[in-house]
Amino acid sequence: MADRTDELRVRFPPSPTGYLHIGSARTALYNWLLARKHGGRLVLRIEDTDAARSTEASTRAILEGLRWMGITWDEGPYNQTDHAEEHRAVARALEEAGHAYRCYCTPDELAARREKARAEKGQYGYDGTCRDLTPEQRAAREAEGRSHVVRFRVPRDRASFRYEDRVYGVMEVPADTIEDFVIVRSNGEPLYVLSNVVDDHRDRVNLVVRGADHRFNTIKQILIYEAMGWPVPDFGHIPLTLDPKRAKISKRRHGEVVTVEFYRDRGFLPWAFCNFVALQGWNAGDDREVYLTPEELVEAFDLSRVSRTNSVFNYDPGNKKFFTDPKAIHINAAHIRGIPLDELAAHLRPWFEREGLWDPAWDAPGEARERFLATLDLIRQRYHLLGDFVTLGRAWFADDFDFDPKAVKKRLSRPELAELLPALAERLAAVEPWDAEHTETALRAFCEERGVKPGLVINAARVATTGQAVGPGIFDVFASLGRERTTRRIAAAAERFFGS
Ligand code: GLU
Ligand code: ZN
Repeated sequence: MADRTDELRVRFPPSPTGYLHIGSARTALYNWLLARKHGGRLVLRIEDTDAARSTEASTRAILEGLRWMGITWDEGPYNQTDHAEEHRAVARALEEAGHAYRCYCTPDELAARREKARAEKGQYGYDGTCRDLTPEQRAAREAEGRSHVVRFRVPRDRASFRYEDRVYGVMEVPADTIEDFVIVRSNGEPLYVLSNVVDDHRDRVNLVVRGADHRFNTIKQILIYEAMGWPVPDFGHIPLTLDPKRAKISKRRHGEVVTVEFYRDRGFLPWAFCNFVALQGWNAGDDREVYLTPEELVEAFDLSRVSRTNSVFNYDPGNKKFFTDPKAIHINAAHIRGIPLDELAAHLRPWFEREGLWDPAWDAPGEARERFLATLDLIRQRYHLLGDFVTLGRAWFADDFDFDPKAVKKRLSRPELAELLPALAERLAAVEPWDAEHTETALRAFCEERGVKPGLVINAARVATTGQAVGPGIFDVFASLGRERTTRRIAAAAERFFGS
């Protein structure tokens, strides 16, 4: 394909050393949004160079997490290790051109000199011992059998290094704070700081969007681009997401609660999760929190509105319901209420199947499916997580639903209900036609005849028919459950809770 020079090319290069956590998920999402917004391309590259820590399982988990989020890539996934030879070749080229040199200092020597320099002059970093070795000095060190690393020769003709970050603005550091950094280890392995540049160049990346923890790598990497005479991409760093204690989120320390999988398994809609993640460190300049479709977010998203301050990600794995940021739950609930019913049904299907509650008749268009969708529409108004449909909403799909003990205690304890409930069931059994309007008329007339407050009977009927103290309007509940289930459950509740 011909290369369009105006085409935006972004990338997501995760290291496969753990699950996809919320911070990397956000980096991937921002890149994806930018590619969609500008008709660009997203390159996926697995940075598996660290053989000791990279695993196949992690690569799979990352790809699965991205797929679940709906993040698609246009190229890749490439493996960084497939290009190891190329990374070494670039290191050699840098060395040959004098932009890099061999350093024979041993770790012990380095440590000793660093200590001394820090004590005497308050300096740190590599002191340049091997920067200007003569060929003879080099040969002597090799003859001693010393191994070497390759260091980049940082230019010393400038007072500072700077670049313009698309998020943080001008980034400038005094030149002497950038030491001659290592680009190839003593075992011949190129380091991230080099491989990443070589790969981004080959993949023709022209905008690098990544976590703010890489801001100072960027200074070094730009020097490599310049030394190679390669075009330098734009850089935009995004602030970190911190845990509730304001520490950097790490998969190892926080376990699964910070992973994408956790949200999937706890009943998040994938796009609602993306919506929440996008708002960790970005807003459109208004109070808007809900973007029901990817299109809406693509339209609104812009790197220039990414915040420069780290965002805090609140969660509480010990809390069964509000295990994560309340804002995340609120956004998921808004999506559950707001997306087309067909889509919601598709997301719910595995949840129903796991409970043995999926009716194959719901697969095909027809009356059964219409009724199912209408039920979803009724009950979704109060739900926060997909699992709520088969737990809180189980009564709509099965007779063996649980009764919330608090609801029973509060709503099914007045002794007069022992007699009222069977009588109500009998009255409702005769209502024609069975709909919200007619059941309401019948119930209210019943209460008036008996001289009881409708609230008493309505609240009791709600718990009797659904097991819950709250839910949709009771007459809609009756209409939705149907005559048979409604009357049977009201009568059964009298027996069960009053022994009558
Ligand atoms: N593999 C690096 C990481 O996961 C990529 C950083 C970058 O985007 O350059 O942190
Ligand atoms: Zn040295």
